[in-house]
Amino acid sequence: MNSAGGKEPDPRRDLPSVDELLRRTEVASWSEKWGREPVRARIREVLSRAREDLQSGAPAPTTERVLAEILRNLEHDRPSLQTVINGTGVVLHTNLGRAPLAREAARAAASVASSYSSLEYDLEAGTRGDRYSHCAGLIAELTGSEAALVVNNNAAAVSLTINTLARGRDVIVSRGELVEIGGGFRVPEVIERSGAYLKAVGTTNRTRIEDYRRAITPSTGLLLKVHPSNYQVSGFTEETELAELVQLGRSAGLPVMHDQGSGLLLPDLLPDTADPPVGTSVAAEADVITWSGDKLFGGPQAGLIHGRAAIVGELRANPMARAFRVDKMTLAALEWTLRAYRSPELAARSLPALRMIRESADSVRRRAEVALSALSAGAARAVEIVTLRSVLGGGSTPGFDIESAGWRMVEGADAAESFLRDFDPPVIGRIESGAFLLDFRTIGADEQDGVARAVTAWIEHEEISG
Ligand SMILES: *Cc1c(COP(=O)(O)O)cnc(C)c1O
Repeated sequence: MNSAGGKEPDPRRDLPSVDELLRRTEVASWSEKWGREPVRARIREVLSRAREDLQSGAPAPTTERVLAEILRNLEHDRPSLQTVINGTGVVLHTNLGRAPLAREAARAAASVASSYSSLEYDLEAGTRGDRYSHCAGLIAELTGSEAALVVNNNAAAVSLTINTLARGRDVIVSRGELVEIGGGFRVPEVIERSGAYLKAVGTTNRTRIEDYRRAITPSTGLLLKVHPSNYQVSGFTEETELAELVQLGRSAGLPVMHDQGSGLLLPDLLPDTADPPVGTSVAAEADVITWSGDKLFGGPQAGLIHGRAAIVGELRANPMARAFRVDKMTLAALEWTLRAYRSPELAARSLPALRMIRESADSVRRRAEVALSALSAGAARAVEIVTLRSVLGGGSTPGFDIESAGWRMVEGADAAESFLRDFDPPVIGRIESGAFLLDFRTIGADEQDGVARAVTAWIEHEEISG
């Protein structure tokens, strides 16, 4: 502006341009991940501060210094919620977001997220539509139930159902099922907070149908059966069959609910899991059944409710249903996932959680070996291939594990764990008996390079500092 035509060259011209900086590989990898515009904005800010410094007489910084300042700013601005590589071997890891979506389900969610959609619009009639229509029919079809409803998660599904069917009345549950599932979902508290009264029957290890029968009074509202999901009582045990409970409910004129939990729809695909299949609850004619969308089902976080049409109608009419309402991204991902279940073969191939659980131990081991061969000779010496046990997690199938394989690093296990956790992308493993372990069952084929890069960087870092 001012020095055009002046004798002294303008030192501001020595600053690198925005485009030049955007092209630098260190910066390009940021814009690939978080978007070009936010990165461009950061570059502009740093350049504008540099120009101000120049104006007040400071010497021109080198391009490398400007670049370092930009990278510092970008690092500081890194989003808190980011993708990680799960090397824990826990397939449905609640802290790591449970089931990853099928690629196409994620694409469906992204597509309705960034545009308008037919969420509550009937495209055939040109009138107001129903948000639940996109998934309810599919859930009813796949489970063989009369009607269905989707809410935010299974905790919401359980609360809504109890509140609707038993507000101000007793809910009868076996003492063996008064469990805590994940942080904060405790069956007794959920019942009380849903406005009902808990009436526990039987004992921790044995509950008979007679225990339920004797507890029924005029103030009983609901008979509830909860799948204990994350724990197991073994030894001298007896549990009342759902079908028996349904019979009792029929004769007493009371609804029977089953909180199935994990959404195991195709038990033939996962023959070794001990979870009760959803189909078994339907066959037992439970009046209402609930489960999570992001456990064994392999879809988005959601609470799926299905059963008798009259009950689902009551649930929908409860004002609480609005507070638990699912958003369009969830519905889009859920609809895709439900459609995949129409073909067991497509479900097995496309849903990452099912794929991971079904992969043979040999195949996992081969992938771990191939990834190891991508390491430099020096780095490979620090890693050995070991047999591991993966678990399902997310409160499914306690006591069940699958043979797996992965990497074991003995040297500096704690430091390796924290170095890899801090890497981009973060790689999360586990420490066992003083060794750092990465289970390849939960590491996708497209993530193996990321793991190799992180471990190589760790070994190099060790060599420099050690
Ligand atoms: C996981 C689980 C829940 C809680 O479901 P969220 O989807 O995490 O809210 C409730 N009941 C059972 C039986 C479960 O397994």
